[in-house]
Amino acid sequence: MLYINGEWKEAYSGNKLDVYNPATGELIDSVASGGKEEAKEAIQAAKEAFKTWKKATGQEKGKYLAKVAAIMKERVDQLAETITLEMGKPLPDAKREVLGGISYVEWYAEEAKRVYGETIPASHPNKHLMVLRQPVGVTAAITPWNFPVSMITRKIAPAIAAGCTVVLKPAPDTPISAIKVFECFHEAGLPKGVANLVVGNAEEIGSEMTESSDVRKLTFTGSTPVGKLLLRNSANTVKKVSMELGGHAPLIVFEDADIGMAIKGVLGTKFKNSGQTCISTNRVYVHESIAEEFGQKLAEATSNLKIGNGIEAGIDVGPLINSQALEKVESHVSDAVERNGKVLCGGNRYDTDGNGTFYEPTVINYATEQMKISTEETFGPVAPIFTFKDEEEIIERANHVSYGLAAYCFTNDLGRGYRMMEELEYGIVGINDPAPIVAQAPFGGVKESGIGKEGGRSGLTEYLEEKFVSVGTA
Ligand code: ADP
Repeated sequence: MLYINGEWKEAYSGNKLDVYNPATGELIDSVASGGKEEAKEAIQAAKEAFKTWKKATGQEKGKYLAKVAAIMKERVDQLAETITLEMGKPLPDAKREVLGGISYVEWYAEEAKRVYGETIPASHPNKHLMVLRQPVGVTAAITPWNFPVSMITRKIAPAIAAGCTVVLKPAPDTPISAIKVFECFHEAGLPKGVANLVVGNAEEIGSEMTESSDVRKLTFTGSTPVGKLLLRNSANTVKKVSMELGGHAPLIVFEDADIGMAIKGVLGTKFKNSGQTCISTNRVYVHESIAEEFGQKLAEATSNLKIGNGIEAGIDVGPLINSQALEKVESHVSDAVERNGKVLCGGNRYDTDGNGTFYEPTVINYATEQMKISTEETFGPVAPIFTFKDEEEIIERANHVSYGLAAYCFTNDLGRGYRMMEELEYGIVGINDPAPIVAQAPFGGVKESGIGKEGGRSGLTEYLEEKFVSVGTA
């Protein structure tokens, strides 16, 4: 279903989008699939709603968001199950995603009351200088399938807390999760047109969003090539943009690290979500003096991960999203093996009775910078181990990719930890912490990983414009 101007709708064309379960290949449902016309209508509804929503008080906006959070909390299980069915992550991880998604709604329910302006000391006694912070306007949001609930709330909650109105286009693989989130918006009584949902043709909806001068802000999470295309297409109307794009995270293990902690760090950052996260570890760099031992221990821990349909109990690693994803992972592994990488565990598709797109959690030793896996995002459960000799060398190698989203570093040397946090050219750095993401902190990349932040105070700023006002008095 589409949700436009407070109403659930079918597409004018009657088109439907089939949604499949990647663990079984089964059809889950067919949902309404819109295009240009529906996108236009949604933008118009958001434009109309903006006239009054921009004037809502912080308390009022916060109250609606708190209600959305409360409804989502009642439905954690239902939302989590939908995520698992649509994109495959194990149910407990899906629940964690929903709770994480709710935390953004709760955080911005509070922040809605704190959109402060500023006064500036004037250089003349009869002048009064101030900065107003006002909502940007109609916001277009495009989200991916890997976190089909939390990527939506991380955009929409701050947007509407700031006083913007939104049109969302979710990923075609996971529209039902988006519909379920919008059911919560609807039941919270959000005024019509404030949040609109247009599932459907990406090119048509995307070009309507970028070309419309009524859309003043575009927020996107997805691949770097699509992000670049949207940036180019937004240039004609000079929109404000936020881009959360690809990543290629290094995870560096120094000889003084707590090895057990570092192994857990790799398991968490590489195999959760089957490695389909923009902050997933893509390169494990281990100091040469501990590399052999580390590789053995990591392979042992990885072999113990249970792979299967995430709806069943006790599963650690679910399927990949689709067969193209599976082929990409296979091509990275075969390229690494051709270049003398050694598979310590995994290395194959995982056969199921059905048509699931599973790949075994894999560890590859003796990785080199000549391998595809060292610069291209794998988006799959494959951990390549590289070795290094010293700090200076590893900083250079960790920074050599075009991406700059997340980096992880394990060390018990405090000075080294500080040096690494300053030198790593990444927007997010976890020192002895493989999970550096919370609603109150800014998430976002540098270099080709993106522009702008989500979460924290900066997450709200992304949806605000500063207006400088100078008042002269007699
Ligand atoms: P992934 O490879 O992870 O699927 P994409 O960047 O292709 O990442 O997709 C992320 C989101 O961008 C999805 O909602 C997708 O439908 C959307 N998308 C893809 N191509 C376009 C486009 N040309 N215009 C607008 N949105 C697009």
